[in-house]
Amino acid sequence: MPRGAREERRLNVAVLSGGVGGARFVRGVVDVAGASATSVIGNVGDDVEVLGLHISPDLDSILYALAGLADEQRGWGRSDESWHALETVSALGGEDWFALGDRDLGLHLVRTQALHSGESLSAVTARLARALGVVARLLPATDDRLRTWLETPAGAFPFQEWFVARGHRDEVDAVRFEGSEAARPAPGGLDALAGADLILVAPSNPYVSVGPILAVRELRAALVRRRVPCVAVSPLIGGRAVKGPADRMLHRLAGGTSPRHVAGCYTGLIDALVVDEADADDLDGLGDVRPIVTRTLMSDADARRRLAETALGAVPA
Ligand code: GDP
Ligand code: CA
Repeated sequence: MPRGAREERRLNVAVLSGGVGGARFVRGVVDVAGASATSVIGNVGDDVEVLGLHISPDLDSILYALAGLADEQRGWGRSDESWHALETVSALGGEDWFALGDRDLGLHLVRTQALHSGESLSAVTARLARALGVVARLLPATDDRLRTWLETPAGAFPFQEWFVARGHRDEVDAVRFEGSEAARPAPGGLDALAGADLILVAPSNPYVSVGPILAVRELRAALVRRRVPCVAVSPLIGGRAVKGPADRMLHRLAGGTSPRHVAGCYTGLIDALVVDEADADDLDGLGDVRPIVTRTLMSDADARRRLAETALGAVPA
């Protein structure tokens, strides 16, 4: 192919993403690769029913990030949020353990009604994205019911009960995905992977954010048989999670927090791992996985873009 022709063609990118860490990275990818060339396959293992509403926290983090509505200080939910509905719920003795802001609630109302009327999660997600002006394709990993459970010394908990209600204080002995055997990829998911020139795994929690996506058998199989590079970004900096329990989980479940332990979560699925400079002295044991060392803290839009450029640079010219 003449060089000019290749340069004009946009690279199609598919990103596997969890919530907050993933959403930050996806924003960078969209900035660099272009929204219409980007498909995101999002985690639904965290989905939860609260107050009769269907909440998809990870899909919403991505939606809000791409729509420019996310609260960057708090790290989740919408900016310019208020909490009157939740105050009323508390005052009435209702279910108030899961924080839902007033603006956020509006989205959950629309989604829940759509699901009750028989619309699929992927269809209503696409509709919400369109309404919010989000051009990138956002696909739930599955439209089927798939829920993450944590086995801990204190018992087994559904994801949000462990993460939010118990503040992820319990050590995790095992993660399982209820419904994964029967779960089919949502429409568009396999096409997004098959049509991608590059597949990226966001710096999301490998066990509870990317794990539930890979628990959808056909999605995992599509990654195994990929003909294009797949590049993961480590969620750890200096062996520590920027936020959340990823480091503790890796320590207990994989035996350490070095790049090889992160790569070990994606055996056979990735060709390269983007690791932070702070982890560059510990690159042993990566096997076939090529390390790409850079600064990975997404502290602002420039940092997000630079990280996305590095990950996207892994595609052969
Ligand atoms: P959640 O679903 O909201 O928990 O979000 P994710 O699983 O997508 O992201 C959580 C992970 O993102 C954590 O393990 C963090 O360490 C990681 N993370 C957050 N911010 C950054 C960052 O700026 N750089 C890197 N490398 N990882 C980050
Ligand atoms: Ca999540």
